[in-house]
Amino acid sequence: MERFVTLAVAVALALSACSSSETNAAGDPADGSQSGGSVPGDRLVIATTVAPITSLVSQIVGDRAEVVGIVPEGTNSHTYEPKPSVAELLSRADIIFVNGLMLEEPTVELAEANMAEGAEIVELGNTVLPESEYLYDFSFPEADGKPNPHLWTDPSFALAYVEVVRDRVSEADPDNADYYAANYDAFAALIDEFDTAMRESFETIPEGQKKLLTYHDAYAYFAANYGWEVIGAIQVSDFEDPSPKELADLIDQVKAEGVTAIFGSEVFPSPVLEQIGKEADVEYVDVLRDDDLPGEPGTVDHSWFGLMVFDYVTMTEALGGDASAIAALDVRNVAPDIATYPQ
Ligand SMILES: [Zn+2]
Repeated sequence: MERFVTLAVAVALALSACSSSETNAAGDPADGSQSGGSVPGDRLVIATTVAPITSLVSQIVGDRAEVVGIVPEGTNSHTYEPKPSVAELLSRADIIFVNGLMLEEPTVELAEANMAEGAEIVELGNTVLPESEYLYDFSFPEADGKPNPHLWTDPSFALAYVEVVRDRVSEADPDNADYYAANYDAFAALIDEFDTAMRESFETIPEGQKKLLTYHDAYAYFAANYGWEVIGAIQVSDFEDPSPKELADLIDQVKAEGVTAIFGSEVFPSPVLEQIGKEADVEYVDVLRDDDLPGEPGTVDHSWFGLMVFDYVTMTEALGGDASAIAALDVRNVAPDIATYPQ
């Protein structure tokens, strides 16, 4: 672990000293290819979208590839439109990993228009989830044709994502396939540990409390897997506030469900949810995150794992459970994370 950290610092320093398009090792054939496509001996260039995906990709590639995120943390990833300047990154990327499930359509369109020959876009969600298992709900109604895209908040899908990442980067960069495979194995062990701790903590939540009323409905697949019930989400598909009638119904529903807390998102402050909390006399917890990582880039908390530990400790404690099994986990990266996270 310590060796990785030292190496990460060394690579970060080397990276800051030269632009990556000029990092070909001496002796590489000058084939004139300026961008995209894999050049033997060259590091892969990987573009990613939201921060949890960037973190997951980094768990596999470590410092053997250049990883650059696109969607700035703290923005609404569902409506985000990349600046034209992102085209430069997309034009030199070998692989573009996106969540898919129609989360990042403007970015995918920009990628299709600018990517180099031989480069590929990998839609992780579409790859691991058969269409028959897409979830539609209040915030993501089937009529709009966009499924709930938040697979990554369920650790089993996060593991499925990194499996796809491992396979694709190993194809594109077979020299490092053993390294990618070892990182995958270490991450799978971490997921196993996390899953056990989650189930242990969730069992301590009082009967009938494993219910989520959230602002932003980012936990649908998680809930299905871990026996929680999503009782509602405030954020409708057009990102407008609910009508007075809908609001009154939600207040009645929260009272009837008997939950002790409802959950807002740190990215989407919601006076409406605050009002529901007050009128139904339940705690309003407004700190959940689905794609804005905690902490600062370069710290271990600033990772997919740090994000998930934060959310599930928060939910468990607010609903009267004991989150110590999750809180006791060693939040860590299994490979050095030197990715670029736009802020
Ligand atoms: Zn979201």
